[in-house]
Amino acid sequence: MASIKDLKKKYREFSMLISAISLMGWDQRTYMPESGADHRSEAFGFVYSDLFRRATSDETGQLLSDLSEPGVYSSLSAVEQSMVDNAMRQYKRFKAIPPGLMHRFAVLSSKCEKIWETARKRDDFSMFKPHFQELLLMVKEMAKHYGYEENPYDALIEGYEPGMTASKLRKIIEPLRDFLVPLVEDLLMRSKSKNQLPSKGHYPRNLQQKLFLKVLDVLGFDFTRGRIDETAHPFTTTIGPGDIRISTKYPENDFTMGFFGTIHECGHAMYEMGFDENLVYTPVHNPASLGIHESQSLMFENHIGRSLPFLTYFYPKIQETFSPRLSEVSLRDFYKAVNTVSRSLIRIDADEVTYNLHIIIRFELENAMVNNMLEVDDLPAAWNEKYKQYLGVEPPNYADGVLQDVHWSSGMVGYFPTYMLGTLYSAQLFAKAKHELNGLEQGLMDGDTGPLVRWLRERVHKPGATHKPEKLIELVTGEKPDPKYFMDYVKHKYSEIYR
Ligand code: ZN
Repeated sequence: MASIKDLKKKYREFSMLISAISLMGWDQRTYMPESGADHRSEAFGFVYSDLFRRATSDETGQLLSDLSEPGVYSSLSAVEQSMVDNAMRQYKRFKAIPPGLMHRFAVLSSKCEKIWETARKRDDFSMFKPHFQELLLMVKEMAKHYGYEENPYDALIEGYEPGMTASKLRKIIEPLRDFLVPLVEDLLMRSKSKNQLPSKGHYPRNLQQKLFLKVLDVLGFDFTRGRIDETAHPFTTTIGPGDIRISTKYPENDFTMGFFGTIHECGHAMYEMGFDENLVYTPVHNPASLGIHESQSLMFENHIGRSLPFLTYFYPKIQETFSPRLSEVSLRDFYKAVNTVSRSLIRIDADEVTYNLHIIIRFELENAMVNNMLEVDDLPAAWNEKYKQYLGVEPPNYADGVLQDVHWSSGMVGYFPTYMLGTLYSAQLFAKAKHELNGLEQGLMDGDTGPLVRWLRERVHKPGATHKPEKLIELVTGEKPDPKYFMDYVKHKYSEIYR
């Protein structure tokens, strides 16, 4: 008879292959010499196909269907049931796409991403267009194979945020958009002077490195279980339990980018470090979703890192590190400078107030494309129109407009909303933590993040993927995901900054 032990044994094997893939990926993005690319991509392909073959084998399918038999399933513990559910969900998604289509998608998306890179450099949408049209057709075909009830978009977002749908998103987005558009207007009307850091200049790399190690230490990053390296595009990756790696960058003209980036990745790493050890190598020793993952990085970056209480503690250390460069800049001015709202064209440069407007635009456009309400031909015009409407800016070119993100070019449709959900979840979780933990802000002023980290570990990190994201938020906060916490948070924080 099938037993949960068999599933655990299988997942232990899968985990070893995933670990090899992660390590190759990490190395490729950090230290691999350029000419290693061809070999790496072959090696990567080889290991990935082996994983795919095992994960979709008849044996795996049989085991999962045996474990799903009511008699067997009901004898499992709740956590074991969620292991079966998660594994089954993954298996079905893998099996849904015919191998030929999967292969064509892999080839086309990687080609389209390369073309996007050149098209963006040359600011040429027409070069990108035919390839993206073809890719979008394929994405729609895949949505059909995955299956959906209402909207093909639901089948796509399911891969990143289990349980989320376009109609649930719309219920969140509409009030959020109607709140943010006038708020941005109001804040910018009120600010007479620009809150710019007056001290852009030279911040030596070695001093930044020292500073970032210090902040990671204060935040509780465990260097016996993780490390930090340098990359052009910072990221976090897990090689295995006890080996979680982050990366950052050190542009010498502005240390704040790398500083807050490091805190952001630290939040991602803390989440991965915090999964329950008893769940290691099982289908639930994983993030609940990308939205929950992002909620943890944003909790660290925004609710801790960019907060006045934490900067009260940490800013003197920043001043000391770069002394005498910032000696003229007060805490208040620094706080304002790193929490400046502006109408920007570029999503990744956006502040936390306008950020979600960038995401809402992408959601509305991709949802329209997937539902045949918007042609790729009309995409740049629709993009510009929405930027004008929601953010009051108009992209002067394609590169800073519709071609700015890599996601669509690699076939990732339905991914963007997870960034927005991260901001909403983090605000809701932080409000709950503040309510339950006495003196949370006083603690941050003393550089003590321990109580918050322990609270997150117990409530959010430990369960891993045992619950779907919506359920997890409900279990921790007692309420379904609700954008009002984010709205309250930005309203309160920014009306104080822009008073
Ligand atoms: Zn992130």
